[in-house]
Amino acid sequence: HNEGLGSWPARRARKTPRRAALVHDGRTLTYAELDERSTRLAHGLRSLGVRRGDRVAYLGANHPSFLETLFAAGTLGAVFVPLNTRLAAPEIAYQLADSGTSVLVYGPSHASLVEEVRGAAHVRAHIALEGAEAGGGAHDYEALLAGAAADRVDEAVGPDDLCMIMYTSGTTGRAKGAMLTHGNLTWNAVNVLIDHDLTADEVALVSAPLFHTAGLNMLTLPVLLKGGRCVLVPRFDPGATFDLIEEHRVTFMFGVPAMFQAVARSPRWDGADLSSLRILTCGGAPVPPTLIAAYGERGLTFLQGYGMTEAAPGVLFLDAEHAESKAGSAGVQHFFSDVRVVAAGEPGLRPAAPGETGEVVVRGPHVFRGYWGLPEESAAAFTDGWFRSGDAARVDEDGYAYIVDRIKDMIISGGENIYPAEVEHAVLAHPDVLECAVIGVPDDKWGEVGRAVVVARDGSGLTAEDVLAALAGRLAPYKIPKSVVFTGALPRNGAGKLLKQPLRADFGSP
Ligand code: ATP
Ligand code: MG
Repeated sequence: HNEGLGSWPARRARKTPRRAALVHDGRTLTYAELDERSTRLAHGLRSLGVRRGDRVAYLGANHPSFLETLFAAGTLGAVFVPLNTRLAAPEIAYQLADSGTSVLVYGPSHASLVEEVRGAAHVRAHIALEGAEAGGGAHDYEALLAGAAADRVDEAVGPDDLCMIMYTSGTTGRAKGAMLTHGNLTWNAVNVLIDHDLTADEVALVSAPLFHTAGLNMLTLPVLLKGGRCVLVPRFDPGATFDLIEEHRVTFMFGVPAMFQAVARSPRWDGADLSSLRILTCGGAPVPPTLIAAYGERGLTFLQGYGMTEAAPGVLFLDAEHAESKAGSAGVQHFFSDVRVVAAGEPGLRPAAPGETGEVVVRGPHVFRGYWGLPEESAAAFTDGWFRSGDAARVDEDGYAYIVDRIKDMIISGGENIYPAEVEHAVLAHPDVLECAVIGVPDDKWGEVGRAVVVARDGSGLTAEDVLAALAGRLAPYKIPKSVVFTGALPRNGAGKLLKQPLRADFGSP
């Protein structure tokens, strides 16, 4: 009996066989087709030696085969390992070896990278997608499906079985493999379904990468569970986003702030028909108030969410009813989740006072089982069953949480705590600032002082003095950066998040 994710296509096919599940490149895959293809792939994987617990990795842009591979692996009780397409060869080699991947499915744009890492990892079999050079004895994906059986796979899979090793974004260091069970992912999908009132008529625009927890677990899986439709976009393009929204009458979108920022800055923003959009969720990084305001002006309900790979990932969400009255808040806990804000830097779980900044901790059936191969880090991540997020937040009198920033990124200047995100949001309010990151630099007098790294609007002639002058009166004097430097672009990872470590290396000397 299969109670895991692998059974979803079959269950959906039983209920809504002819409804569209996935739309990609002008083609539609129904739930019945998704079921048949996932089942064939499961047999194909089995013929390549994949057994329960074996790891099957996927390296490629958003494409139906990503989900087919996830469901096929789940059908066999094997473990799916989505790889970040923006990683360099040594990082891919590390994750393949670390996860002990035995079969790798890869897409056309990654064939040469796969060649490069072939010797480094002990991958037994390679499967090349359509258009990918099937070098070195790789199996052809479509041929494997065509030659495989289509009868039900008989394999017992339960909620406590491992479903996925999903690497964290690697924003603060080397990415860690979060072990997510079938139960974790199901509970998260149920939370999203309940808390965003998803219907079977949902049309999700999946332009966030599927290898990242948000694109897959906050958007795609809940919509597929409910029987809605997912439009898979291989590469996010702000301009093309408008065409896709209009063509497919998109109702549900997720993006990290940088994606929604790019959409709002597109020349197509004014005049586009966005009337089909019902749920816009944004998270994964601090959400600037100026961004929420821009969508609010268009009459769009912009809902901040907060989570992390380890929580599969939904922890907090802003309910539509409070989108305006609690703008800027990441909202309240999901239905099947328990969240607290506790005194930061203390070993126990002493609750932070209302309004006091503390650390977010979370417990629930969606919270992961630990980091793959890292028992010490796994143990350190929990206190009495609560996962310590490492993120700072405060809660208002109504119980609504405001995410402040990562505790690790806090700057201590003359004994005062400065959270860079708050300063970044104030700098971003300047109309000539496109992007901003604030880092701490060593200082003889204060220990550390803030420095703003700014990307200015082209041709604006913005100066450091302009930036600092605009902050006076907006921020307490101790929070105002002591210096401003300009750059052409800020480093971001595959999930679109700011990478502070390379910034500190480039701009962090006194
Ligand atoms: P790594 O753990 O490898 O350093 P990461 O933490 O960026 O990378 P993810 O699991 O993708 O990996 O991201 C979760 C983190 O993203 C959270 O811990 C938090 O710091 C940040 N985040 C998520 N949502 C929000 C939000 N709404 N506001 C501010 N930060 C957020
Ligand atoms: Mg993290």
